[in-house]
Amino acid sequence: MSRISRSPSCADDLPDPEMLSVEQARKQILQSIEPLHAAEKLSLRNALGRVLATDISSPISVPGHTNSAMDGYALSGEDLPQDSVRSYQIIGQSFAGKPFNGQCTAGQCVRIMTGAVMPAGTDTVIMQEQVEVTGKDSVRIGDGQRAGQNVRQAGEDITAGATVLQAAHTLTPADLGILASLGIGEVMVRRRPRVAFFSTGDELRSLGEPLAEGDIYDSNRYSLYGMLKRLDVEIIDMGVVRDDEDSLRQAFIDAAAIADVVITSGGVSVGEADYIKPILEETGEIHFWKIAMKPGRPLTHGRVGNSLFFGLPGNPVAVMVTFYQFVQPALQHLSGAQPRPPLTVMATSTDAIRKRPGRYEFQRGILEQDEQGQLTVRKTGQQGSGVLMSMSRANCFILLPEKCEGVAAGETVRVQPFAGFV
Ligand code: AMP
Ligand code: MG
Repeated sequence: MSRISRSPSCADDLPDPEMLSVEQARKQILQSIEPLHAAEKLSLRNALGRVLATDISSPISVPGHTNSAMDGYALSGEDLPQDSVRSYQIIGQSFAGKPFNGQCTAGQCVRIMTGAVMPAGTDTVIMQEQVEVTGKDSVRIGDGQRAGQNVRQAGEDITAGATVLQAAHTLTPADLGILASLGIGEVMVRRRPRVAFFSTGDELRSLGEPLAEGDIYDSNRYSLYGMLKRLDVEIIDMGVVRDDEDSLRQAFIDAAAIADVVITSGGVSVGEADYIKPILEETGEIHFWKIAMKPGRPLTHGRVGNSLFFGLPGNPVAVMVTFYQFVQPALQHLSGAQPRPPLTVMATSTDAIRKRPGRYEFQRGILEQDEQGQLTVRKTGQQGSGVLMSMSRANCFILLPEKCEGVAAGETVRVQPFAGFV
């Protein structure tokens, strides 16, 4: 089919050789980024969510001593009853933090609590529920017990000297617990990226200002703030910048001087891009991309001064979609973190979804689970790139690849849940 014979209404959505795919764009962005290397020392609590700058090896073994996994009675596995019930003398007790210092020999046992050190001469614990207490100092134990049972060996979790966490790992609550269990109170983490952002547009007003006819409140700066806040980066909000050449040039220069990353929204759509282009070319090295995606086709990417630059579209939903698909992985890479490709799941679409081939669509959906654990997804209504409520109501993106020609109700679609990603 020749280009001429295409109907004009479809031409927009047919594959365009000048367009980048979402995957190509993400790859090119990541390849252009060198992770930050500066590191700082933080106390354990302050290091939650931060990226480790070095490997961490354990100064001690965990557990430090062989200890009981149960409340019960400790004895030697060689001294267990054979095919009969036997009596044992209780010669003492070992509590967590208060060990028994004597030696246990044949016919003897020691009362022991969970976490208490195994006394000399013992290697096996009988649960207290399986023991018949026959006097103050005696118990009867039947057969069916196994030598070595109910005991945690010294070094079973971690051996001294072993690497417990690797550089580039992002610290989780469990990691804080691990580090504390090793007696480590401070860690070296990578410096957080500094991110400056501003909105562009003569129609934009900040909160608290009156709206003249045709004005709108600047919402992008708030959703951007929210998305950045979740990423644990340093945030510099530079406000609204008017569509005038000198103000824009100055804003780019100021932002690049203080931030590792500069993000703008608006001003990259056709027409407006021509206006911003010369300023960006003066201050840095910029690529104007058309990406085969919806929403969010225009994206500007490159450098202003020595800072990374992302010029996001102006439409509020497009800002969020392009942030999640490109800026978030870029910031994670810049912070030195291991890549964490977001989890996607398959779900049954309860809606029919209209789509033309040619662009990768990120529709906003509500993912639900029934009592059997089956996942279903439906759209959040109007999907226009200016309809921010479609994002507010959503808990996932419905991922519709370039080739997809629409979805019938009951068909399976791939979904990217926000939980753990947003
Ligand atoms: P632009 O890319 O500047 O042409 O903007 C595209 C659309 O998004 C226009 O309708 C703008 O009014 C709107 N828009 C741009 N920036 C913002 C913002 N910060 N907050 C809300 N809407 C915006
Ligand atoms: Mg604008």
